[in-house]
Amino acid sequence: MGTVVDSIKDAHVSFPGDKKIAVVFVLGGPGSGKGTQCAKIVENYGFTHLSAGDLLRAEIKSGSENGTMISNMIKEGKIVPAEVTINLLQKAMLESGNDKFLIDGFPRNEENRAAFENVTKIEPEFILFFDCPEEEMECRLLSRNQGRVDDNIETIRKRFKVFVESSLPVVGYYDLKGKVRKVDAAKTVNEVFDVVKDIFSPFHKKAE
Ligand code: UDP
Ligand code: MG
Repeated sequence: MGTVVDSIKDAHVSFPGDKKIAVVFVLGGPGSGKGTQCAKIVENYGFTHLSAGDLLRAEIKSGSENGTMISNMIKEGKIVPAEVTINLLQKAMLESGNDKFLIDGFPRNEENRAAFENVTKIEPEFILFFDCPEEEMECRLLSRNQGRVDDNIETIRKRFKVFVESSLPVVGYYDLKGKVRKVDAAKTVNEVFDVVKDIFSPFHKKAE
């Protein structure tokens, strides 16, 4: 049996060696505003936004053989095996033709982080971390009505627990490397984006 890395390599998805790719991981609890802020960054700075959760939901819809497994994991707020998510991310990165990516909601645990690094050899430029109290996130999730199977109070509690136990340590890992840009996310969309803009100022603004 091969490793996760071997099986992903077998999928023949790799990046041209000489292309410099910029990746920003966008992390924060469920409902912290990752997707909303990513849309604004895309508009202003020409990144391609890849939401790991959206890619997994699209994979379920496509009727793939992994669909049932992914669907069960999402309903329980559990983290899908790195191999599956990384394959989807790599394909989406290649298909986009872009070289600047916001990877939203990934890596969610140490396994995700280490496998992404091993497979792609990409080091993130930095980690954009949306810091938000649970009460505020809970309120947003319960009022957003996006028809998601995991936006119910029972699954939300499980997602918070997984976030604290598995995802925050990833933020801690990058913090030790000085790579975390922490933003207070308990504010209005525009107030948060004002802070986000300063963080992205090294990247050129898109031409109007
Ligand atoms: N998920 C996963 N791996 C990922 C991203 C998402 O397993 O890399 C699953 C996990 O079950 C998570 C769900 O997809 O609870 C929804 O993730 P998403 O990022 O869409 O939700 P958010 O945290 O933004 O509310
Ligand atoms: Mg999201």
